[in-house]
Amino acid sequence: MAQKQDSTGDVTAAENRGFDPNALRAKYDAERDKRLRSDANEQYRELKGGLAHYMEDTYSESRIEREALHDEVEVAIIGGGFGGLLTGARLREAGVEDVRVIDATGDFGGTWYWNRYPGIACDIEAYIYLPLLEETGYMPTQKYATGAEIFEHCKRIARKYDLYRDTCFQTRVTELRWDEDAARWIISTDRGDCMRARFVCMALGVLNHPKLPGIPGIEDFEGHSFHTSRWDYAYTGGSSDGSLTGLRGKRVGIIGTGATSVQCVPHLAETAEHLYVFQRTPSSIDVKDNHPTDPAWVASLQPGWHQKRMDNFQILTQGGYQEEDLVNDNWTEIIRMLVANIQQSENPDLSPEALQQQIELADFGKMEQVRARVDEVVEDEATAEALKPYYRQFCKRPCIHNDYLPTFNRENVTLVDTKGKGVERITKRGVVVDGSEYELDCLIYASGFEVGTDYTRRGGYEVHGRNGQTLTDKWADGARTLHGMQSRGFPNCFFIMSIVQAGFAVNFTHGLGDTARHLAFIIKRALDEGVESIEVSEEAENAWVDRILAVAGTGSDFQQTCTPSYYNNEGKPNNASKQNSFFFGEPGEFMKILEDCRADGGMKDLEVCYSADEE
Ligand code: NDP
Repeated sequence: MAQKQDSTGDVTAAENRGFDPNALRAKYDAERDKRLRSDANEQYRELKGGLAHYMEDTYSESRIEREALHDEVEVAIIGGGFGGLLTGARLREAGVEDVRVIDATGDFGGTWYWNRYPGIACDIEAYIYLPLLEETGYMPTQKYATGAEIFEHCKRIARKYDLYRDTCFQTRVTELRWDEDAARWIISTDRGDCMRARFVCMALGVLNHPKLPGIPGIEDFEGHSFHTSRWDYAYTGGSSDGSLTGLRGKRVGIIGTGATSVQCVPHLAETAEHLYVFQRTPSSIDVKDNHPTDPAWVASLQPGWHQKRMDNFQILTQGGYQEEDLVNDNWTEIIRMLVANIQQSENPDLSPEALQQQIELADFGKMEQVRARVDEVVEDEATAEALKPYYRQFCKRPCIHNDYLPTFNRENVTLVDTKGKGVERITKRGVVVDGSEYELDCLIYASGFEVGTDYTRRGGYEVHGRNGQTLTDKWADGARTLHGMQSRGFPNCFFIMSIVQAGFAVNFTHGLGDTARHLAFIIKRALDEGVESIEVSEEAENAWVDRILAVAGTGSDFQQTCTPSYYNNEGKPNNASKQNSFFFGEPGEFMKILEDCRADGGMKDLEVCYSADEE
């Protein structure tokens, strides 16, 4: 019988590990290949035309009535989620008073406004995910906060920094246009506004535009249906805590098994007469080690603890070294496993190739644990097998949940595994998979959000820069920015995107915080010095884009081997997706680049034009 060996040919190591890396690699490839589709990102349906109603705000109780505005502000922030809130907070701290936040929603919160589905929580530790904790004097109640607690914190930040003062909620921007003569942005909205702003900050979010799966017949369903980011509590009853009493006696289907579905499925199962979970690819589900906040720990914290904890996590999850792992969670675990593996070897080979191999082995080990947990929890063997994820841990968003897997032991729950193919068809009565129709009263789409489509399409408006150039045209082959924040041809305009050409961050609010601090610094200086316009120089922008492309290599090699998802442009990474990627530098490098830039006055690489009266 052939002996098992690992990829280095080491038989003993393979036996000690209990898995065969070559076999796993082959299995991962086969599972990925089942899911690759030629239409990749084109497979999804945009929510317009007959599907536009899926976008409607189900949370605003009444319409805010107001006159159209034809005034001017110093800074307009488009988007009131964490990006907009952090920008507003840092601007106010810097002493910039004339700030207006514009958002289509009825309140601050962004993603936490829209996503209120039952079970919603954040799986990044609350002590680092919630920004401005020391500034607001707030301490989360538990390690992993619920969506409701996070939404409240968004409003707390807005109150603390007096950002409610001049908001335009329930207002969709329809166009941004640069007025060269006046050196102002003209902001048009669906409320008839025509405002002017010296500076515009676009904090549109990332997962901000829901999408539907491109399943034939999707318009035909005659039962009730909605997207998870527009939860219809009027139909389901209950709240984000669950108790969905409106689902009693109902046959409910949910399409999608990503991070959102994992959190709401247990609540659906509690009250639905029968729940059908339609799965294309299983999520990886690890243990959620949640606990209430320990008052003794809180009392022990020293000023500055929050940024220190955020930075500690940021550096560790970028593969850097820290003496202590302060957060110590599932995100940093793989780094711990890796370090342990290296320490166990007598003469560790630390060449980049050997390190990649060690990372892969640590990843296999982690995912074997995740798969073993499915077997431990799920009683039916076939269901357990279908729920096992066969891909590298970070090919998809890893999930933590303690109730999701046990839900499949309930008699009123059926996992309908589509074996990587997806739902075949939707009819007026229900959902068809493999020729069988599942009749439903309610169909919920946990099908995620647009990623990889045009930035302006997701934002819902065009940006006309200098000489009428549109942002859509400028970024047609991928974003072109300096630090992911400014783009040539669009003076006085800042992007708070944080995933595009900005530093890689698992903790999204960390990236937003870095960006907000930096742009507030530049705007404050520009206002103090009577700057009319600032615009990134051509050389600086080109150099930054080249740098992004140069370091995107490792990330995109990894993505190429992954199962399709929005992380890898649905299995088809291309030049644009490479260019739209994070800045993958050394641990802490992006923060340092921005710090150095501010230490140098913040205007390096920018073309600055002063008002005539200031010259
Ligand atoms: P995702 O994009 O992750 O999931 C969409 C789901 O729909 C996938 O399971 C996908 O399958 C499935 N799907 C798409 N098309 C079809 C089809 N034709 N037939 C069957 N299934 C289909 O969206 P989510 O809303 O779950 O999550 C989006 C992101 O939001 C997460 O990645 C995460 O970043 C964030 N999030 C974070 C949370 C947190 O705790 N911090 C909680 C919830 C969300 P397939 O996988 O095969 O493509």
